[in-house]
Amino acid sequence: MSDISVLGIFVADISFSGPKIPAVGETILGNKYNVGPGGKGCNQAIAIARLGGKVNFISKIGKDTYGKLALETLKKNNINTENIIQDEKLQTGVAGILVEKQSGKNAINVIVGAPNSLKISEIKSQINLIKSSKIFLTQLEIPKDVTLHCLKTAKKNGCLTILNPAPASEISQEFYSYIDYFTPNEIEAEFYTGIKIKNEKEAKQAAEKLINFGIKKVIITLGEKGLFYSDGKEEIYIKANQVIAIDTTGAGDAFNGGLAFALSENKPIKECLELANKVAGLSTKKLGAGNAMPFKKEL
Ligand code: ADP
Repeated sequence: MSDISVLGIFVADISFSGPKIPAVGETILGNKYNVGPGGKGCNQAIAIARLGGKVNFISKIGKDTYGKLALETLKKNNINTENIIQDEKLQTGVAGILVEKQSGKNAINVIVGAPNSLKISEIKSQINLIKSSKIFLTQLEIPKDVTLHCLKTAKKNGCLTILNPAPASEISQEFYSYIDYFTPNEIEAEFYTGIKIKNEKEAKQAAEKLINFGIKKVIITLGEKGLFYSDGKEEIYIKANQVIAIDTTGAGDAFNGGLAFALSENKPIKECLELANKVAGLSTKKLGAGNAMPFKKEL
């Protein structure tokens, strides 16, 4: 039995670093490129595994070059690959990332690939695993009907559920009643509430609104400013750790992985938030997404 089940996608992040992000119709000569593991679900699973958590990653990939990269990455990080569906006819996801070297600014095009066709009927045994997990963590990169079904099943079987509502997209009212922890960043929180967050007061207002939707606990991550937590009664604001950030890609994923791990260890909420904040801060000190997740010994 896994303590934590993560439903999500793997994509190969293919990043091109250059003097600028080319404009439409323009060709430039860049500096270097890199291919590494990405996809919110996979990054979060790696973060959990590197902290020493027992994690079960549920996903779908193709039988191609990047599918091989997915399996290698999971194995290398001690993540069980039994629950990955491999489909010969489909492509593994990829993300084309254009990075401006000087500023670190990027433009990204994600091709989800195989998981776009994921169906509830395909993951019967994986759903049984979710039922026996302590924590269920997911995002919004998998088809919504599958995501909702898994959240509902998890909740009905006594799992603690975490929805990282990213990328921001419309979800039905039904989702909210099956969510214990809702973890948007500031931009996503604005999408769901209409409240633009520039300070703690606005974070509080947005969290209040989300709790009125039926969510139990809200954590709004505030980038280099840290995070805000509320369960409607207790409120906690934690500043980000002072680090020299070189690449913030995947910081939110590190945060969610750290949170799921800490919750699985039954730590009090403040300690869970502090650990997640620390894991996320450390992830910004390395380049890349999945490969930037810190190990327990680095904490
Ligand atoms: P996302 O990566 O989803 O956009 P955020 O930017 O809100 O999410 O970052 C998530 C978390 O990562 C923050 O709550 C914080 O803990 C950490 N973090 C992000 N940027 C920095 C930074 N520059 N310095 C320290 N910690 C950071």
